[in-house]
Formats: sequence, structure tokens, C-alpha cells
Amino acid sequence: QFKAILVERDAEKRQSLRVADLTEADLMEGDVVVRVAHSTVNYKDGLAITGKLPVVRRWPMIPGIDLAGTVVSSQDPEFSPGDEVVLNGWGVGEVHYGAYAGLARVKGDWLIHKPEGLSGADCMAVGTAGYTAMLCVLALERHGLTPAMGPVVVSGANGGVGTVAITLLARLGWHVIAVTGRTSEAEFLASLGAAEVLDRAELSGEPKLLGKERWIAGVDTVGSKVLANMLAMTTGEGAVAACGNAMGMDLTTSVAPFILRGVSLLGINSVTVPRDRRVAAWARLAADLDRDKLAALTTRIGFDEIVQTATDIVEGKVRGRVVVDIG
Ligand code: NAP
Repeated sequence: QFKAILVERDAEKRQSLRVADLTEADLMEGDVVVRVAHSTVNYKDGLAITGKLPVVRRWPMIPGIDLAGTVVSSQDPEFSPGDEVVLNGWGVGEVHYGAYAGLARVKGDWLIHKPEGLSGADCMAVGTAGYTAMLCVLALERHGLTPAMGPVVVSGANGGVGTVAITLLARLGWHVIAVTGRTSEAEFLASLGAAEVLDRAELSGEPKLLGKERWIAGVDTVGSKVLANMLAMTTGEGAVAACGNAMGMDLTTSVAPFILRGVSLLGINSVTVPRDRRVAAWARLAADLDRDKLAALTTRIGFDEIVQTATDIVEGKVRGRVVVDIG
């Protein structure tokens, strides 16, 4: 028997939550059973638990989109009992039972072996948020952008994606401009490597067709007006990697940055990245992420604190990353 958080919905589509005692027989289909040791709370997990956006699309559901643990049994030749594994995305915690449980049964195709040089808890400190930050960095690099070309701007700076993006980009030599609604955290952001901190209010107004060119690259985690302003202030031939919607799903912009400055908008979806690119992104995280800074931006919680933390994250109250000790 193991404990699991179950989100349920009644006939009137009202969502509720309970902690259930389950057995392996209750799990959904899959070819690998994993004893979950660690998970995390991402913004998406907050949306699933609070029901603020329709992240959960199968009822009932065990939320939790990220897990690290040890293989208990496997019908996939790639994995054997005792192997340490990591999973991000693939609809786990959305349409397939997820990480907030003692056991998970998943498809072997969704798993990767734990990257060398990172512990399972480190992998959850990174989590989908940090892994997505790396995908944004890789997208900017594929576009040919380098620190010598100018600054990079990161929005949602105090969030999970934001803090890891700042840490990575600073380590890679970028001049990082952090955009935040919490300027009181400026010292913390500087400790991660932010060279400048910009108040979110400066990027929250109606965007001009084109603004003063301030950065060659961007990582946007919030969408809406902030992203529109980031695009209008990007230097010619620059690019912004867009991965988030913490401010809103909307994006009202003009074609001016694209046709008059050759600016590119790079879309990032972490959920279904093929395994070879996934493994490569994790290898870069293992190589490029400063462990002391990762520890400094991470808080550790127990299973019983998941629900409160999920509520806090959608209210913008969580700083950095959270590791959940499940086992
Ligand atoms: P998070 O830890 O909650 O960070 C979001 C940050 O955005 C907050 O810390 C806050 O930073 C800022 N923010 C919060 N509410 C805001 C508002 N109303 N207006 C403007 N800014 C606001 O979340 P996360 O896990 O890093 O995820 C960030 C975003 O990326 C989410 O939208 C998430 O869904 C998305 N995401 C997408 C993918 C993908 O595959 N595309 C993967 C991972 C995450 P400040 O206080 O510093 O302003």
C-alpha cells in the first residue's frame, strides 16, 4: 500500500482532493513500475491541484508531472529493477497517474536514466521548470545567439524557470536582465547571477510597435503584455524563447519586431521533446548548472505540504524551486 493525492470531479464538475491509500493494482497501464523518491511542484502542478486551468484531462487523477525514483519492475528491456530514473512530462499528472504517490506505473519510453553527476533530488530541484529553462537556452543557442552580442532578459525571474534560466545564462557568460514583480528579491536574483533587475511594471503597459533595443535574447515565462514588450525591445536579429503563461495566455503584438528588426519568437514545449534531445538537455544541465546556486534556489518539503505549495505557486508566492520528499 502507498499514499497518493487524488483529484476528483463530481457531476457538476466541482473539483475535490483527497489522500488515498492505493495498491499497485490501482495504477494505470504501463511497462515500468517506479518507486517514487522525489518530486517537485511546478506551476502546472499548481494549476492541476487548484483547478485554475484545465490541466487535468482524465478523472480521477494523481497529479505531479515530474518524478525521480528507482525501478521496481520493468517489461521494457531498457530498464531493470534498481535503476535510478527520471521522468518529465508526457502527460503524466495530466492524463496518466503522476508523481504524488509512492508508486508510479509508466511507459518506459517516457523515462530516462538519471543523468550522471546529479542526484535524484537534484533532478527534481531542476524538474520540468529547470529542464524547460535549459530548452530555452538551447533554442537561443540554436538561433546563433552568444553573450558577446548583447544582454539576455528573463521574465518571471523569481519563478522556477526564471531562477534556473538566470543561473544557467550567467554561468554561460551572459549579462542577465531579470524582470520581476518582486523587486524586494533583487539581492537574491543578483546572487544567482542577474546583472540588472527590472520592475515588471516597466514591461506591463501597452507595447509600442517598436521600443528602444535593450537585449538580443530573451526567456519569457509569463506571456501577455510582458512578452509583447520584450519582443518590441529586442535588438535586430535577436530572439525570445517563450515557454510560459503566468501573466496570461494572450499575446497582442504587431508584426513590427518581426519584419522591421528580424526578431524571432521561439516556441518551447517541454512535454513531448524526443528522448535524444531530452537526454542532451539533461547532460547540459549536469554540466552547466552551478550546484551551490541550485541548492540556494531550492526549498525542500514533505508530502503533506504539496497542496499548500501548489496553492502558493499559482498565487506567485513561491520563490525558485521546490523538492518534495515522497519516499
Ligand atoms: P513559477 O515558479 O510560479 O514562476 C512564475 C513566475 O512568474 C513567478 O515566480 C512570478 O515571478 C511571475 N508571475 C507570477 N504571476 C504573475 C502574473 N500574474 N503576471 C506576471 N508575472 C507573474 O512557475 P514555473 O514553474 O517557473 O513556470 C513558469 C511558467 O512557465 C508557467 O506559466 C508554466 O506553466 C510555464 N512552463 C511551460 C513549460 C513548457 O513546456 N512550455 C514548461 C515549464 C513551465 P516574479 O515574482 O519574479 O515576477
